Amino acid sequence: MQVHEAQGYARNHKALPGSFEKHPKGIQARVLLSSVFGPYAQDDEFGSRSINPMELYHNQVTRAQGSFSLRMFHRSWGIMLIQANISAPCAVLDFPTRDDFARELTSHRYDIVGISSIIINVGKVREMCRMTRELSPHSAIVVGGHVAAIPEIEAMIDADHIVRGEGVSWMRRYLGEDESAPILHPAIVSGMQTRIMGIRLPERKGATAATIIPSVGCPMGCNFCTTSAFFGGKGKFVNFFETGDELFEVMQRMEHELKVHSFFVMDENFLLHRDRAMQLLQRMKENGKSWTMSVFASANAIRKYTMQELVELGVSWLWMGLESPQASYSKLHDTDTRELTRQLREHGIRVQGSTIIGLEHHTPDNIMAEIEHAVSHNTDFHQFMLYTPAPGTPLYQQIAAEGRLLRDVDYADIHGQFKFNFKHAAISRDDSKRFLDWAFWRDFELNGPSLYRIAGTLLTGWKRYKDWPDARVRERFAHEMRRLSGIYSSALWAMEKRFSKVNANVSQQIRALRKEFQHESGAISRMMPAVLGPVLLWTTRREERRLAQGKTYEPPTILERKNWVGA
Ligand code: SF4
Repeated sequence: MQVHEAQGYARNHKALPGSFEKHPKGIQARVLLSSVFGPYAQDDEFGSRSINPMELYHNQVTRAQGSFSLRMFHRSWGIMLIQANISAPCAVLDFPTRDDFARELTSHRYDIVGISSIIINVGKVREMCRMTRELSPHSAIVVGGHVAAIPEIEAMIDADHIVRGEGVSWMRRYLGEDESAPILHPAIVSGMQTRIMGIRLPERKGATAATIIPSVGCPMGCNFCTTSAFFGGKGKFVNFFETGDELFEVMQRMEHELKVHSFFVMDENFLLHRDRAMQLLQRMKENGKSWTMSVFASANAIRKYTMQELVELGVSWLWMGLESPQASYSKLHDTDTRELTRQLREHGIRVQGSTIIGLEHHTPDNIMAEIEHAVSHNTDFHQFMLYTPAPGTPLYQQIAAEGRLLRDVDYADIHGQFKFNFKHAAISRDDSKRFLDWAFWRDFELNGPSLYRIAGTLLTGWKRYKDWPDARVRERFAHEMRRLSGIYSSALWAMEKRFSKVNANVSQQIRALRKEFQHESGAISRMMPAVLGPVLLWTTRREERRLAQGKTYEPPTILERKNWVGA
């Protein structure tokens, strides 16, 4: 693992920086690593919020799309990574209830209890520290994750150690292990319990991508970015895998263990590291790997590649910050993001845009035009987020220094999907939510369900590459078409019917795409909509009724032990 220009950053410690206190039992210590407790999609005194469920896409990308919203849960990857890289007996408890957490604390004698959390869940961390002191008083309590960025967190929770930044090396050092040893990547299935159109997708081995975490942090250092700030800020990042060769070996192992060909690459700016990506491509070519990758990348990083290179690399989904046409972020300089989006989709790459609502220059007079501009990108998915000074970021420091932070906003409400937590020059707190909601609504109204959009991008890519000379590329699109064309055609049939009365324009566009699919699909896929289409229409309507009655979804509790024999 290499820490780039950030030596020492991740080594913060509540005790004495420089004289690091190791746990007396070393790797004999028994460790519990837990995420915060649920349920999550409800309003409660610990900071759960019904508008902030544990579903990334539904929460901040497709939440206005009703039964067409993409819903799934993602594991707490940070604690999984730590567990895989320590020799001590270790249990990971993901998405527990309070009872689950209490039961685990009392059923084994844990020497160390690690709690991982983001900022909004600080109330839950406080409660879990209290429970640990009561039920397992001999345990050392370690708290990490973005919650550690809260100013004066030490006074808010009863923890022994607050870990800021990357946690694997911290925990290794705490246990007396070699913190610079190579990282062993755990086998992580990227999403679970995926639902769309009222159906939970089957979870067979290999059907869901594997998550790969090549690096953490991003050197672009945008002023609002929590992840960049948390891992060192501008110019800094931590590489778990330095080279394309190392990454290839990890991906090949995941391919074997999880039977996957697709990867969710959890790296804030994967394409920025061009040498690593190109070496990976070289190894993929040498070994005939027809893998697909979902990646995050800034516009300036994407422009380092030709479309051909991206396609050959297997990039099939790209999450890109669009922010605002007036924004001065260096990553967007000289980039026509609408043109870039159009080109990417023409090459079969699904684009997820991300736009900020409530930048400093926004006013009630210009913000609608900016939202229209964002929506006109016609991305496959679009995230909208409020401009939010989150603790730890340069923006937070600036707004605090200007005396514009609203002090009475609960941390549980500082997540960018509710209301401003600062005084904006021109937009009120209540209006910030109205504009945010309108942006989601407008994107859905104009561009239709994301499921329809990604079907269109796949078909465009297939038509372009189905006869391509490079067999790896050809096979990738052919594989997706074989797997999905019948399902997409059926979903399009149901969507067309569903929208016929409420949005005729979108319904006609969906119909045109369905006809194209019919033309390009094999016999079985052509027949499938006649059977599956009405089923999906029925499940869609059933889901709408459920959602109208307040139905929410919660992730399952997961307990995994490692090095446990003889513990
Ligand atoms: S480019 Fe994206 S990940 Fe990087 S600092 Fe900016 S917002 Fe964060």
